[in-house]
Amino acid sequence: MKKPTLHYDIAAKNTGAHLIDVQITIAQSDHDVIAKMPKWIPGSYKIRDYARHVQAFAAYDTDNHPLSWQKTDGDTWQIHSGNQPLTITYQIYAYDLSVRGAYLDDQRLFLNPCCVCLDIIHLSNQPRTITVTPPGPWPCFTQLIPHLIPNSPNSLGSSNQHVAADTTSKTYYAENHDLLIDSPIESAQHTMQQTVSVAQIPHHVVFTGQLLPDYDITRISASIAAICQAQIQLFNGTPLTNDYHFMTYIEPNLYGGLEHLHSTALMASPEMILRQDAPLDKPTIDFLGLCSHEYFHLWNIKRLRPTDYLHYDLYQPQHSEMLWLFEGFTSYYDEVFLRRANIIDEATFLDRQASNLSRVLATPGRHLQSLAESSFDAWTKLYQADNNSRNHMVSYYSKGAIFALYLDLWLRLHTQNQASLDDLMRWLWQHYGQDNRGIDEMDALAGCKQLVSADKHTDLERLFNTGIHGTQDLPLADILTNFGIDYELSPAKTKNQVHTSEPGFRISKNSRHNIDITFLDSLSHAAQVGVSVDDEIIAINHQHIASLDTTAVLFTNQPGESIQLTLNRRGRLFEKHVILAPPAATQVTLKATQQTALGQAWLETTV
Ligand SMILES: [Zn+2]
Repeated sequence: MKKPTLHYDIAAKNTGAHLIDVQITIAQSDHDVIAKMPKWIPGSYKIRDYARHVQAFAAYDTDNHPLSWQKTDGDTWQIHSGNQPLTITYQIYAYDLSVRGAYLDDQRLFLNPCCVCLDIIHLSNQPRTITVTPPGPWPCFTQLIPHLIPNSPNSLGSSNQHVAADTTSKTYYAENHDLLIDSPIESAQHTMQQTVSVAQIPHHVVFTGQLLPDYDITRISASIAAICQAQIQLFNGTPLTNDYHFMTYIEPNLYGGLEHLHSTALMASPEMILRQDAPLDKPTIDFLGLCSHEYFHLWNIKRLRPTDYLHYDLYQPQHSEMLWLFEGFTSYYDEVFLRRANIIDEATFLDRQASNLSRVLATPGRHLQSLAESSFDAWTKLYQADNNSRNHMVSYYSKGAIFALYLDLWLRLHTQNQASLDDLMRWLWQHYGQDNRGIDEMDALAGCKQLVSADKHTDLERLFNTGIHGTQDLPLADILTNFGIDYELSPAKTKNQVHTSEPGFRISKNSRHNIDITFLDSLSHAAQVGVSVDDEIIAINHQHIASLDTTAVLFTNQPGESIQLTLNRRGRLFEKHVILAPPAATQVTLKATQQTALGQAWLETTV
């Protein structure tokens, strides 16, 4: 362990104002010290301008005399330190519940050092320590390594060196800034925790937030361990060198996760957490799927990376056409491992695949945007989705998972079950990920080519071209037949009633309990006659619309019929006549109808 050259002291005292006090002690100065706050966090492709949460910035020399400084752009502070050791102090407004930010209140402290710890540019590659002092004597959970060297007031050559005053404080060590900002820290007054060993590595399952006494953390941890075990089996070993943390903050209506090298920060709603004696229902399976997803990222994005992300530039958008592989394949595999770990049966696996297929088929934008384009424009499209998004874009998560599904089946079919997508992932890991070499599309294609005979190479190139750069649907129905699976298409349903007509828009209840148009198909008749997204439906055929139930006529009428809509657009009432279209068959059903060797191998459990 190299001697640290700078120290971050994080004190969370003002919980009501959500203010975190940060002090950075810099032993090894420069003529002008440059401190920067990233615009975005790896894994979440959106400009977040974390510098907006910095306040009360100041800098001092070792005698506590203020140093002059200036901002040179929105994220950058230049401190005139004259080659002397210095201390920087500031506060962070921490009121972001997401896994990408920082949060402080009287029960919880959550930090992404990415948006809390300024990067001292001339020391970015140098080791550093961080001391975290939560508001109370709470446990801290993080992938960071505890710093065991006793604190000494002069160890950094500065009188401002933090000395841990009590057991509330925890000090950690990071080799460089990249590793520090990859390490979220979760601390809370109330926690539930269970540790399971997978491949001899302790895996800590930690719950904070809304904790209920009958959460069955033992069964959840066992399920998570089975998923981890199955993934490690795929890659013939684990890249983990120390403990792994699944840190889940629980609060109603929250969902999401962010991957890190030795941990993941997750959010889940209480109904997703398995209760004692309760069956594994869909919300719990969804939560385990989220854990499975983030764990697969251990390999696929945290270590095996696209060439574009070998070096992160956190001060501007960094585009990659490859997110279909890193998020799409991960989305396919998070489900595959639910099956391999025997958490779901074959029928449930097929149902969940069918749901994803239906979701994409109900997205008209898939005909306008390819997977490569969806990946490249993640910053401005997927991460800034609005009511019009489905008209012009498709998610590289959902459609990327379909490409992974198709490619997996294709490899299995054309190698008589001798190879699958597993072999591609293993090959990419062994030839690139393990050695920190980046990959691009050609590497993935080359990986597939070495799995099949040469006469199939042209077909593979065509498949990559169609799947990644095209906007047509892949012929899944045909290929699934070889696996004994029937692929059926039917119109969507509302409350078990199959749609017989299509108004060209979707509706939902708004916060005032009125019915709003939340999506409008830009090619629909409704759009042509001037119906708009956000219009409130007052009446249909002169019948007042009081609830979603009374809108059934939109979906259960005869195609060609005209309906009269009374609409409210920001206070202006008007009427429109909309001709109903036939319903599009977007609902996919997958059913195993016969046993085949291919199908059995694809759907078998491995643990
Ligand atoms: Zn992901």
